[in-house]
Amino acid sequence: MSGKLSGFRVLVSGAGIAGPALACRLADAGAETTVVEVAPRLRTSGFAVDFRGPTHLRVLERLGVLDDLKAVQTHAGAMRTVDAAGKTIFELPAEFAGGDVEVRRRDLTAVLHRRSADRARYVFGDSIAAIDERGRAGVEVQFKSGSSGVYDAVVGADGIHSTVRRLAMGPEERFVKHLGYHIAGWDLPNDVGALTVSQQYNVPGRMASVAADDRDPSRAGALTVWASKPLGIGWQDLDAQKAVVRQAFGGLGWHVPRLLAGLADAPDLYFDAISRVSVPTLHKGRIALLGDAAWGVTLGGMGVGTGVVGAYVLAGELARTSGDVTAAFAAYEQRMRSYAGRWQKGASPGHFLAPATRTGLWLRDTMFRRAAVRRLLVSSSTALASAADLPDYP
Ligand SMILES: Cc1cc2nc3c(=O)[nH]c(=O)nc-3n(C[C@H](O)[C@H](O)[C@H](O)COP(=O)(O)OP(=O)(O)OC[C@H]3O[C@@H](n4cnc5c(N)ncnc54)[C@H](O)[C@@H]3O)c2cc1C
Repeated sequence: MSGKLSGFRVLVSGAGIAGPALACRLADAGAETTVVEVAPRLRTSGFAVDFRGPTHLRVLERLGVLDDLKAVQTHAGAMRTVDAAGKTIFELPAEFAGGDVEVRRRDLTAVLHRRSADRARYVFGDSIAAIDERGRAGVEVQFKSGSSGVYDAVVGADGIHSTVRRLAMGPEERFVKHLGYHIAGWDLPNDVGALTVSQQYNVPGRMASVAADDRDPSRAGALTVWASKPLGIGWQDLDAQKAVVRQAFGGLGWHVPRLLAGLADAPDLYFDAISRVSVPTLHKGRIALLGDAAWGVTLGGMGVGTGVVGAYVLAGELARTSGDVTAAFAAYEQRMRSYAGRWQKGASPGHFLAPATRTGLWLRDTMFRRAAVRRLLVSSSTALASAADLPDYP
């Protein structure tokens, strides 16, 4: 792709996973890429995320990051659902929990950033305030910091609560469906004797889990999921996030009191509503959506894998058409609609992780005690992640 996009100016909003992945490929094609990230630095909260199947691995290889990721991969174990006394109810195998390559989200962001940082411009602590399409002249963008710029294309890779989507297509309520649950995760000292096999404990409508950090067993990660109406708490509002988690899990047994004690000192949380994004189109004029901003399903959509595949296709189509945004975005839409759309039809991950009733919990546990069901879960997720016709962009 070398040189195909020479002089082509792209603004990417969001330095999560899809944004830096796109920056890697755009840089390969010679584009002038700017990535603007609202957080003051790369965000470090969150846990292990995974890639599975030949499509994901091929794209990581083309991005030039597969070996770096293998060097930092985690070897998390199975996911074990236990009762209040710690006795196993059922266990999902490590291949389901960790796919083919599993890494910490923060390591993935760092590797993608490192691969692109000397060839793309990263701006932290800023965000797009207004976008004005000027036809063939490009897109004029005003930033919150007061600066401005003109670009040939703008890509919203700014997550489920995308600002680019709101500015280009309309308010979040039109595109983001709350799926009835919230998620919160944080790091804490491993004083609960957690193992690398993650242990999950349920009461109706609530799930608390803990797993040791496989590189530093003195640390652990807690993850909680609970049934809840929309809360409207922003990603920076740490005190409100902690208060809600304490309220939802206060009074529960098992390791929960210690997990909540660890929450008090957590410097940041991965906190969000479990939601699904569906947009009628992935692009408008010179603006395109990518990753969770375009097709996100919290915890349920192979978010990192689909995000890097989308980045690979979007950069590939822009290079193939030498920056003809109309043709490139149409081809990107056509390819990604069917691939990313596979994850859009599933039920809320919350229903699986924290069924709301006793009967629902019993049904889930009974089903996943069957080896055939567990095998099906592993094989179907890998099959869904594998696209038969991913082009081999040069
Ligand atoms: C902090 C964090 C932790 C996560 N942890 C997990 C996890 O443990 N397990 C899991 O399965 N998934 C996790 N996810 C979701 C997962 O990363 C995504 O599903 C997937 O990587 C798709 O990536 P993305 O780049 O499209 O979106 P994201 O990874 O959500 O990245 C979006 C980026 O855009 C930035 N952003 C948001 N608004 C603006 C704005 N207005 N201007 C500029 N930048 C903006 C965000 O700060 C973020 O860096 C996490 C997401 C985040 C943000």
